[in-house]
Formats: sequence, C-alpha cells, structure tokens
Amino acid sequence: MTTLDDLPLRDNLRGQVPYGAPQLNVPVALNVNENTHRIPEAVAHDIVARIAETVIGLNRYPDREFSGLRERLARYLGHGLTAENLWAANGSNEVLQHVLSAFAGPGRTLLGFAPTYSMYSLLAAGGDTTWIPGLRDDEYELSAETAVAQVREHQPNVVFLCSPNNPTGTPINLETIAAIYDATDGVVVVDEAYAEFAPDGTESALSLLPGRPRLLISRTMSKAFAFAGARVGYLAADPAAIDALRLVRLPYHLSALTQAAAEAALDHTDEMLAMVDDIRGQRDRIVARLSELGYTPHRTHSNFVLFGGVEDPQALFTALLERGILIRDVGIPGHLRVSAGTESETTAFLEALSALSSKA
Ligand code: PMP
Repeated sequence: MTTLDDLPLRDNLRGQVPYGAPQLNVPVALNVNENTHRIPEAVAHDIVARIAETVIGLNRYPDREFSGLRERLARYLGHGLTAENLWAANGSNEVLQHVLSAFAGPGRTLLGFAPTYSMYSLLAAGGDTTWIPGLRDDEYELSAETAVAQVREHQPNVVFLCSPNNPTGTPINLETIAAIYDATDGVVVVDEAYAEFAPDGTESALSLLPGRPRLLISRTMSKAFAFAGARVGYLAADPAAIDALRLVRLPYHLSALTQAAAEAALDHTDEMLAMVDDIRGQRDRIVARLSELGYTPHRTHSNFVLFGGVEDPQALFTALLERGILIRDVGIPGHLRVSAGTESETTAFLEALSALSSKA
C-alpha cells in the first residue's frame, strides 16, 4: 500500500497531522465552539428563496468582488467601515490563509501566543511559513510587556492575536494590541472569531483600525451567526491590505450560493444573533457550576470555557462521551474545553459532569 512517505511531499509537511476535531454523531456536541441553536425558520426560508433565485444563474461565474456581501458586512461591523475595507472567504480559516499567502511564506515567520488556535501552525506549514509559538503570562493572559518583548526578539512578518483566544477564552486588551502593532513592521491580525460573545462594553480591535494600515481584523459568521456550515469568514482592514489579499485569492472563490446565503443571513442580523445573549448566559452558568464542582474555569469572553483541575482529562472526556456528550481535550495537561450549548445541552453536560465528579 502506498503511504504518504512514498510521495514526493514537501519536507516541511512530513510528519504533520491534519486538523481533526472528532465529528461524531452524538446527542450533545459541545466540542468545536459552534452555535448549537438552529437557524430561525423564517430566516431559513428567506435564505432558501435567495438561493433559489441564484441557482438559475449558476451558468455564470459569481461576482468576483462579492460586492453585496462586503457592503452588508461593512454595515454590520459599523466603525465607519465601507465595502472597500472588507474581505471575505470560505470561513475565516481561508481568510487567514489569504493573509499568510500575501504576507508570509517561505523564509518568513508567523508569531502567535500559545496555547492558541490549532490551525495557525497548520496554516503556516501549508504555506511554508515558520511558526513561532510565543509565550503567555500566567492564566493565559498576554500583557503588552510580554508580547512586545517577543515581537522585538523574533521580528515576525505576521503576528496572529486571537482575542478572545481559543482554546483559553482569554481576551487581549486594546493597549496590548496597539503596543504590538507599534513594535513591528509586519502585519498584525486580530482574530475576533468569538467577539460577539464578549461582555457588553468590550471594545473590538476594529476601533484601532484608523491610521493602522498593517492591522487586520478577522471575523466569522460560523459562531455568533450560527452559520458554520455555510463557510463564511471575513476581515476588515485598510483598502490597501484588501488589495494584497486580492492578489492571492483564487478567482471566484466565493460561490454565488455562498454569497446569496450570507447576504440573506445578514439581512436578518438581529434574528441570527438573537441567541448570543442566551449562549453567554449558559457560558456563565458553566463557569459558576464548574467552580462549585471544584474545577478551575479560566476567564472567558467566548462561547466556551477552558477548565483545569481535571485529574485525568482523557478519562473524563471518555466518560462524558459514553453519556452522549462530546467536549474537547485540547491537549493542555489537566484541562478540558466545553462550548456553551442550548440550555438543555448545557444542563445535560453539567448534570453528567456533576455525577462524574468526586469533588462535588
Ligand atoms: N479562528 C478561531 C479562533 C477559531 O476558533 C475558528 C474555528 N474554530 C476559526 C478561526 C475558523 O472558523 P471558520 O473557518 O469557521 O470561520
């Protein structure tokens, strides 16, 4: 049988493992930080109608500039942004890949602060960029001092700042982001995939964009918008940075079906985002109950909670799975991560965990 080793694979991909969060058919899946609420039926009908109109024209290539989508995304983000400031792709993973294709690559480096989103190192490897896993402070926080020292030391071409950070939930404050920007000539990306779940009053890094042409803010419709299956991520930046991304995207990368679906969803932003408050409430409930059970949940601005104090993460993961509840072992010793679900999913998780926890 032929194996990967027999193929003339690029050297830097040898020994790499593909992204592989388990996709299991279980009653309660709280492992990949999805929004577990289904799309409101009225909105779904509207999306279908918009797609139906599009199907008849699929003989033609889609709008390469996805203008309607960019206008709607700009309107949603506010902050004085216009369509010229917006970019989109098939998930924010692809957006980040575009950024690395334009600004990183062979002989160049990407700095992130570990533990962080596992795709960053894989995206780096895919484009032959050197991944530098920087260090955080205690409790997975990132101070300006700690970050700037590492930026000065490594002089990366690109910095990825995940805020709130996956898998820890930790936000990065705007002073730290601004200090990192000032400490580098490279591109600074703030991955705000989970921004909508932050407490009221939390300022987005979007407010830092004016006057910072090397700052790029990445977002997604996969989480708060409950649109993960549609694959729509986006980014806001100076129009010059958007021009750079245009150089590396494949022509017509966003299908007419994707554009139609995303536009329709954005025409119903309030309904699509209606469950965000509920999810934040479930997240807070998880944090409170985990503490009562003797675990140590970390500070989170996201729709998930990383908790420590787990004696045997793999054993607890398996015991929950046997009860139909899938969460995530992110490989941090003594820790597991769980996404906030609907009220009943969250209850199922907390009840199973209480039953399994000798600490309560
Ligand atoms: N960034 C972060 C921090 C994420 O956690 C995820 C999804 N897990 C993504 C980006 C990618 O999301 P998508 O490609 O669905 O937009």
